[in-house]
Amino acid sequence: MRLSRYFLPVLKENPSEAQIVSHRLMLRAGMIKQSSAGIYSWLPLGFKVLKKIEGIVHEEQMRAGHIPLLMPTMQPAELWKESGRYDDYGEEMLRINDRHDRDMLFGPTNEEMITDIFRAHVSSYKDLPLTLYHIQWKFRDEIRPRFGVMRGREFLMKDGYNFDLTKEDALHAYNRHLVTYLRTYERMGLQAIPMRADGGPIGGDYTHEFLVLAETGESEVFYDSAVTDLTFGDREIDYDSVEECQGVLEEFTTKYARTDETHEAALFDEVPEERRRVARGIEVGQIFYFGTKYSEALGATVQASEGKPQPVHMGSHGIGVSRLLGAIIEANHDDNGIIWPEGVTPFHCGIVNLKQGDEAANAACDDLYAQLTAAGLDPLYDDRKERAGGKFATMDLIGLPWRITVGPRGLKNGVVELTSRRSGESEELAPEAAVAKIIEIYKDHPTPQGF
Ligand code: ATP
Ligand code: MG
Repeated sequence: MRLSRYFLPVLKENPSEAQIVSHRLMLRAGMIKQSSAGIYSWLPLGFKVLKKIEGIVHEEQMRAGHIPLLMPTMQPAELWKESGRYDDYGEEMLRINDRHDRDMLFGPTNEEMITDIFRAHVSSYKDLPLTLYHIQWKFRDEIRPRFGVMRGREFLMKDGYNFDLTKEDALHAYNRHLVTYLRTYERMGLQAIPMRADGGPIGGDYTHEFLVLAETGESEVFYDSAVTDLTFGDREIDYDSVEECQGVLEEFTTKYARTDETHEAALFDEVPEERRRVARGIEVGQIFYFGTKYSEALGATVQASEGKPQPVHMGSHGIGVSRLLGAIIEANHDDNGIIWPEGVTPFHCGIVNLKQGDEAANAACDDLYAQLTAAGLDPLYDDRKERAGGKFATMDLIGLPWRITVGPRGLKNGVVELTSRRSGESEELAPEAAVAKIIEIYKDHPTPQGF
């Protein structure tokens, strides 16, 4: 993309309504625009990152054999009356009447609807195990929408639901989701720590929240610092293997890590004092096993090989797709702007032409652009007639991890400059060598292909 043809409405001033850095930077970098409290338009740069995050989530879910579908945003109230949650859910649920005065609602989550789909089409144990998921906009009429996309009213969520014959099978699905989530967050350059959590309105005894440590996080967390040394890495895993998934769960959840809702001071005191941490975190996902709560209420049963129909065991598993943008920025920025991890960057690298109009500089930039594009990468070429300082400031603000700077002086010596946004370090090298290096870097960060 050429910046002169793009739509990147960056703000010079700090927007006064933004209290935290990610919100401020998303507004300043022209990623989002508020339309009303907690509801945003996703401008091109923000939309691009959102789509990448969504793509990574899809890929990692499908890798584990989970099946994507799409349910509507509007739901009939009847389903929620059947489960008993229509009255329980309270004011966060946006209730709407259609022209026939039927009670509708904008879905805050989808346990009822997916159970309705299941009961309509599945009746045999042979169709299990089954995990269905979607990535869809949710609405929760939050009392205090704030911090930009972190606590929106309309927000994008991945929510997945497993259906299993037995509790053991459903716990395997739970563990499998934990593994997919670890992989998903790491691919985005994030450390999200699974912490024992509270069932809340969805209910259930088995639940973990995934938290990204950040001062601006809304949750208070207590953990053994040894959990921050754990990484999933690029290990191979057989998602059908009960032992392997269980092993990962144990590895990542045995050490003390809890939110304030489940914190137990006496247990925490058993952690060696020098490893005890009290901090704040951003919840970027949560997994639940809740047994037959919804399948009983809605009559989602399967006929086992012998015996009578029995309600299926279920769990639900959510990722805050739009919230992740805020969380990633909270964890990756400096005074000059965002620093995108390679896995989610909107453009793979920036090209800055120091002397727009100079024949050699223009030709070199065009050439770099063509080579990177031919390699399947997506560069952003700042081809505006701006001062170098202004171009650098824009690149730093929008946070592309790599920048190639091209100027007549360097070109005379056959070199361009390659700069890392994160370290600030630069090296001079031949244009082809810069391209080769960028290609090499992104080999470990494949662009998600969607589905
Ligand atoms: P919270 O405690 O932050 O209100 P929750 O526990 O009610 O969230 P879940 O039902 O677990 O949320 O939803 C799954 C994920 O969706 C959460 O882990 C979070 O990342 C994201 N999410 C929830 N509410 C919001 C919101 N208002 N804005 C953006 N993302 C949200
Ligand atoms: Mg939650």
